[in-house]
Amino acid sequence: MTTRSTYWCELAWLGSERAQQGVEVEVDGELITAVRAGVAAPSADAVRLTGLTLPGFANAHSHAFHRALRGRTQRGGGSFWTWREQMYELAARLDPETYFRLARATFGEMALAGITSVGEFHYLHHGAGGEPYGDPNETGKAMIAAAGEAGIRITLLDACYLHGGIGEPLNEVQRRFSDGDAEAWAARAEALADAPGSRIGAAIHSVRAVDPGSCATVAAWAAAGERPLHAHVSEQPVENEACLAAHGATPIGVLERAGVLGPRFAAVHATHLTCADIVALGGSGSTCCLCPTTERDLADGIGPARALAEAGSSLALGSDSQAVIDSFEEARAVELDERLASGERGRHDPVSLLHAATRDGHACLGWPRTGSIEPGATADLVTIGLDGVRLAGATPDLVLDAAVFAATSADVERVICGGREIVRDGAHSRLDVARELRDSMAEALR
Ligand SMILES: [Zn+2]
Repeated sequence: MTTRSTYWCELAWLGSERAQQGVEVEVDGELITAVRAGVAAPSADAVRLTGLTLPGFANAHSHAFHRALRGRTQRGGGSFWTWREQMYELAARLDPETYFRLARATFGEMALAGITSVGEFHYLHHGAGGEPYGDPNETGKAMIAAAGEAGIRITLLDACYLHGGIGEPLNEVQRRFSDGDAEAWAARAEALADAPGSRIGAAIHSVRAVDPGSCATVAAWAAAGERPLHAHVSEQPVENEACLAAHGATPIGVLERAGVLGPRFAAVHATHLTCADIVALGGSGSTCCLCPTTERDLADGIGPARALAEAGSSLALGSDSQAVIDSFEEARAVELDERLASGERGRHDPVSLLHAATRDGHACLGWPRTGSIEPGATADLVTIGLDGVRLAGATPDLVLDAAVFAATSADVERVICGGREIVRDGAHSRLDVARELRDSMAEALR
């Protein structure tokens, strides 16, 4: 059964420099069939969307279970590496059921933030000691089910993870991440299938965890199925030093030789890059997925986003460690962090930041028809209120600038994903998200 709806948006962003007033959007099933701007008033049967309507946001890099660490790693100093120990303690505790409930709550929080597609970079595959579950894909399927119950799309980026570091054995927790070798990883991933609302992609955890030959195996598997392929890259300087010492190349150099780079590839973080790395990423049409709120939380550094965009890379955004879940904050941080590093303003304009949060993020997750309000696109509509204290006084000609630089997830009022309403008046249609977060975190941390 198909369902037709007409929405009338007071203001909507259709991809250009300014928001349009009076935009009528016709939807049939999950797709937008027509868009008309300058429609002065809603027709009798139209659903009126007040405020500013944007396309759905893409969260291109997530580890759902990290949500349980929020607010629990902020004392005692340390570094990325000491944070990682705390993350491993949490990973060691999870089983498929607690992991599912935590992920469903986290994806619910994403829905409330206007995120309609998530790229779940998934590496917690197996039970204690690396023992596979009865279904070796039980945890991956739990992530897909969790996103489905939260009402959002998921690309399960199934990650290959084989080593504890370059030339180092796996520790006890890391054994849960490993399939033993890349061929076994591919055989397990092959048993997963795309379905409506979910897509299977591949991931190379990092050059720390996957040797060059195995990177090539993962890349070949992703190429054969034309699947998205993501990898953590150069998040910390010490990773680059170890990679140079072992392989005589930077992580990007290793991935390039292994045939990883290209239009289906997204480099996550890409923080500490050489000029040659930037040219290789941009020239190959690879996307760079920045996770600024995590990168600042973990003291990673500020990536060269402007240079990457100039070299030819699309940018995407991810909440990664779930330090916060807020696509507005991720988007403006790309610009604001570079202002601090460069002493210049305006290195990324508000519209390019919105494209990173929407169209370009969805594209790197394998959802090319999602992330814009135009005929043929999936009907993903996010409205933000303009009457609250943060955005009151924004005029239509500059409302995009106000939204990118001052809105938060709390301004999201209504979310439609693939033609289905999942958030209304700031509340999830099916889940009591705050309660589910509280209960699932208590369970996971018990
Ligand atoms: Zn990550």
